Amino acid sequence: MEDYPRTLLELEKQFATDEACREYLARLRWPKGFVCTGCTGRHAWSTKRGLWMCAACGHQVSVTAGTIFQDARSSLTLWFRAMWWVTSQKNGASALGLQRVLGLGSYRTAWTWLHKLRRAMVRPGRDRLSGEVEVDETLVGGLEAGGGRRHIGKKALVAVAAEVRGRAIGRIRLRRVQDSSAASLLPFVQEAVEPGALVITDGLQSYRRLPAVGYRHDRRILLGSEEAVEAALPRVHRVASLLKRWLLGTHHGAVSREHLDYYLDEFTFRFNRRSSRHRGKLFFRLLEQAVAVDPGLAHA
Ligand SMILES: [Zn+2]
Repeated sequence: MEDYPRTLLELEKQFATDEACREYLARLRWPKGFVCTGCTGRHAWSTKRGLWMCAACGHQVSVTAGTIFQDARSSLTLWFRAMWWVTSQKNGASALGLQRVLGLGSYRTAWTWLHKLRRAMVRPGRDRLSGEVEVDETLVGGLEAGGGRRHIGKKALVAVAAEVRGRAIGRIRLRRVQDSSAASLLPFVQEAVEPGALVITDGLQSYRRLPAVGYRHDRRILLGSEEAVEAALPRVHRVASLLKRWLLGTHHGAVSREHLDYYLDEFTFRFNRRSSRHRGKLFFRLLEQAVAVDPGLAHA
C-alpha cells in the first residue's frame, strides 16, 4: 500500500478529518486486515469513539494503542501535519519551527512532539548492515580542545557504521557509546551489522575480538597523521563530519548528551533515505514506523 500524498494540498485533502487519519493508520497497522489481539478474529466494527470492536469476542482495540499517538490528546490531523512538516524540512526540524507552523500553544508541546517523532524514526527490528562495513567512533559536542582522538571529557562518543557501496556510502547506523572499550563497541557492531559481514576498522584493540563473534575483520593499523586515518576509513569519516555539521547547523550544537540519541535517530533516518525522490515517501515511511513503535521500548 504505497498511496501517500505528494503535495501539501494532497495531504490536506486526504487527511481532512481524524477519521480519515485513523482509517489510514489502520491500513498501515493491519496491512492484511484487522486481527483481534484477544481471539485472533478477523472481523471488526468501527465504533463511534474511533475504536475497532472484534465481531467475535467484542474486544475493543484502538489503532493508536502502543504507538506514539497513544496518549495524543490533540487531533490526528494535527499530528499528520506535524509529520509532513518534519519530513519536508530538508535539514532537520526544530521545535520552534514546528510550534510556529502548527500554531501550537507552547514551545514545550512542540518539543515533546518532535522527540516522539524522532523516536518513531528508529524502526524496530530493522535490518542490519551487510557486505562490507566501516566502523569507527567519533566525538560529538562539548567544545574542548586537546586530549587526543579518543579522549571523551565533556563530549559524547558516537559509534558509526557505514556500508561500503562501491565508492559511495550505503546505509548507516549510529549509537552513543560509553567509551571505546570492547564492552561498548562489540555490542554496537552486533546490533548494527549482520554476522558474516566484513568489518573494516582501525587498529584499536577493542575490535580484535570481532572474528570471535562471527565477523570477518579487516584491521587497518595506521601510524601517522589524522589524514592517513581518514583515508583508510573514508565513509565513516564522511558520515561523522556530516553529522557534526548537521548538529551545528540545524541545532546550533545545542544538543545535550542525554538527548543526543534522538538526534542520532533523526540523522540516521534522513541519511538512509536521502535519495527518496518524493517528500511524501519520507512522510509515508515515518508514519509506517510511527504505528509500529512501542513507546515504552525505544530508548528504554
Ligand atoms: Zn476477538
